[in-house]
Amino acid sequence: MSAVPRIAVVGAGIGGLTLAAALRGRGVPCRIFEQARRLTEVGAGVQLAPNAVRPLRDLGLGGRLAESAVAIEAMETRGWEGEPLARTPFGAACEQLFGAPYYAVHRADLQRALLDTVGPEPLSLGRAVRSVVPQGDAVRLDFDDGSTHHADLVVGADGIHSVVRQTLIDDAPVFSGLGVYRGLVPVDELPAAAREPRIRMWLGPGRHFVCYPVRGGELLSFAAIAPRHDAPTGSWVESWSAEGSPAELAAAFDGWRGLIHDVIGASRSVRRWALYDREALPHWAAGRVTVLGDAAHPMLPFLAQGANQAVEDAVDLACRLAATDRSGIPAALLAYQAARGARTAAIQHGARGHSASMHLPDGPLRAQRDLELRRSAGLEGLRQRAWLYGHRAEPAMTSAKTSTKTSARTSKSKRSSA
Ligand code: FAD
Repeated sequence: MSAVPRIAVVGAGIGGLTLAAALRGRGVPCRIFEQARRLTEVGAGVQLAPNAVRPLRDLGLGGRLAESAVAIEAMETRGWEGEPLARTPFGAACEQLFGAPYYAVHRADLQRALLDTVGPEPLSLGRAVRSVVPQGDAVRLDFDDGSTHHADLVVGADGIHSVVRQTLIDDAPVFSGLGVYRGLVPVDELPAAAREPRIRMWLGPGRHFVCYPVRGGELLSFAAIAPRHDAPTGSWVESWSAEGSPAELAAAFDGWRGLIHDVIGASRSVRRWALYDREALPHWAAGRVTVLGDAAHPMLPFLAQGANQAVEDAVDLACRLAATDRSGIPAALLAYQAARGARTAAIQHGARGHSASMHLPDGPLRAQRDLELRRSAGLEGLRQRAWLYGHRAEPAMTSAKTSTKTSARTSKSKRSSA
């Protein structure tokens, strides 16, 4: 039997494709099973912070990102009446402090760039995993179409409703009480200010609005978050394709000042969904099954780290898998969990906390928050995010190697033959 593990990745989203690209870069093959029959252009903008851009550049995506993403110069935060609260420089400061720019990208552009890096060969479309069945030293995947696949390792990169996660824990998504409207507007239909490479954010009681350019500056991506306490029982679901109404969105931000109403007025369609996360996973692996990205730690979008943490997971896991053989997989997964668990739990938790402070009603608490925002603006504010943006996803690998000495020996010969 070959020592090279048969790796099956479930889901061809940002996390699954990054894992496949990072494995490929290390000469390790995998198979990717994706439920969608075609990878169509769904979604809108995704923020990519230096902690994800750096490893994506290492995977060879630098040119594609420079072409299709927008390098963000600054993040500007205002109150709902348009009053300036804070400006944090990104641009050259991110390069200097964290070794990579801060990008805004259309999710579909990032997914396409990753797919081109991975190539078509490992990808099987229209293969929805129904169940995951551990079988001794192997794992069987059962698909909706009645087919099966056997692997030495299954990685669930299958998003917030992950089927693979059910192998690890019996839990459910947690509703935040909030809904989000998202959309894309051509920038040439907006005032000139919309072209500036900035993330603009307006904060108000119970809600906020954020927008930034994507696709080389052609489109403005926006997200408007507002309370939706009726969501779980009503027509609001966790979905990236449910239609919302621009009129309903305009009403939710009635009286707000700034670019917001130009953006809403120019949007022909909006998507809407309810915002969920989950509690942190107590353990990330069961034998030869693990998870990454939203399957492991779905988070509210208030630190804009969902895609970034999926990239970090993927790079960490790929490094560990490339340094082991079949027998070392369980130890590699434990090292992966040790490296990723606490960090992603802190970010999930932090995102929930941000939701409360971003949505404070007008009054003394809001005044205190605004004061803190003003104090932590500028370069100092960026430095305070070093724990987030300065993180290196590539593990040092000492722990994985010492815990699987045999594996390390095998991987040496594997690399030299790759
Ligand atoms: P996801 O990006 O959710 O990818 C999961 C993948 O697994 C999907 O391709 C899904 O079809 C597949 N899958 C799920 N179940 C199965 C199964 N049983 N068998 C096989 N395959 C399965 N975030 C933003 O910030 N802005 C956006 O505009 C945005 N648009 C999105 C559009 C779509 C269609 C999706 C699925 C997600 C979107 N996200 C967006 C979320 C964002 O991509 C993720 O939060 C983040 O990138 C983490 O990615 P992930 O790979 O862990 O999960």
